[in-house]
Amino acid sequence: MWKRLKEFILKDVKDENEIKMYAVILRMTLLVMLLYYGVSLGNAVVMLRAAEGAGAVCGIALCIWLLWLTYHNRTRLAASVFSLSFMFLMLAHAHMFGTETSVFHFVYIQIVMLYVLDYLSLKWKIFWAGLAVLFRMGMYQYVMATDTLYTIGRGECAFWQGTHLITASVLLVVTVSAATQDFREMQDKLVTYNRKLKNIASIDPLTGLRNRRSALEYLQEEVERYGSGEFSALTIAIGDIDFFKRINDTYGHNYGDLVLKTLADLFKHFMKGKGRAARWGGEEFLFIFHNINGDDATEMLSELRHCIHHTDFRLGADVVRLTMTFGVSEYDLRKKAEDTIDDADQKLYRGKESGRDRIVY
Ligand code: GH3
Ligand code: MG
Ligand code: MG
Repeated sequence: MWKRLKEFILKDVKDENEIKMYAVILRMTLLVMLLYYGVSLGNAVVMLRAAEGAGAVCGIALCIWLLWLTYHNRTRLAASVFSLSFMFLMLAHAHMFGTETSVFHFVYIQIVMLYVLDYLSLKWKIFWAGLAVLFRMGMYQYVMATDTLYTIGRGECAFWQGTHLITASVLLVVTVSAATQDFREMQDKLVTYNRKLKNIASIDPLTGLRNRRSALEYLQEEVERYGSGEFSALTIAIGDIDFFKRINDTYGHNYGDLVLKTLADLFKHFMKGKGRAARWGGEEFLFIFHNINGDDATEMLSELRHCIHHTDFRLGADVVRLTMTFGVSEYDLRKKAEDTIDDADQKLYRGKESGRDRIVY
């Protein structure tokens, strides 16, 4: 039963865009109002009151029509008619029973709906809210000056007060929770979306390593931490695959990609606890050694170089081996981070010039 009701309320709102969310809020409100008019009809039958009964039947018919509208992309019309119907309801009810039954609570619901169903500009919302308050005041004066259609006793007055209080409270809870739930979902979606965007902007899709931009950001953070004395050494290395173009030319670009990916995995593993590896561009990689001086970084890179020598890159029956050249530079506070990168780059170039497969520090 609960599942059916949920389906009925959420029907056609699978992609949950804003406007469809309004339909959901309105449907829930209309269901509550159907109950309210049902209670009113029951009361009219028990008390044998024709005008009250007719009013309740009109209310029920109106709710059904408005519900139908929300399933036919006419939510905006339904919302406007519904808002107006509150005025008629208050008018008719006060005319029949007077102002002691708290029917004017519905003014507040009307104002909340005005803000929750975000169809109007702020200027119009304020205008309509003001008008609703004026209407309430005018109604009060009118009813005080005229005789009511029915005279009700204390018991029935208490019954109506309770009914209005409960109906208005349920409507408030339903509309405000649906609207804030939607807001929360939107916020959650935004947070996830931002995270995804940040990932796209900072991660190299082929290797899963940080890209150049993100590597520079990370380096800047490290430089600041180093500058504030958080740790005592910071070293940068740039590594470039030797004769990588040949690999592409001989085995194809896809195979070249696979080699880059395999190497990147090796670097990730190798840099654990030492710092970060990033894809600096093409077949060049940047290594940032956290709290490790140039000598120690060079020693660690020789291990890595050894590891690369012994890594088989397989393509069918072919086994490819490759080498890399590295330039290493230790950061010091008198230099800028960019100077350290330039220095590592020049050393890499010297390494290539002097025969490749080496580490120059
Ligand atoms: P050296 O030892 O002097 O570095 O020689 P090299 O062949 O590695 O250097 P070069 O700069 O001439 O070639 C780099 C090659 O890397 C050229 C380019 O096609 C290839 N490359 C760059 N990015 C990618 C990539 O994302 N995928 C593949 N498969 N190849 C890439
Ligand atoms: Mg190369
Ligand atoms: Mg290169």
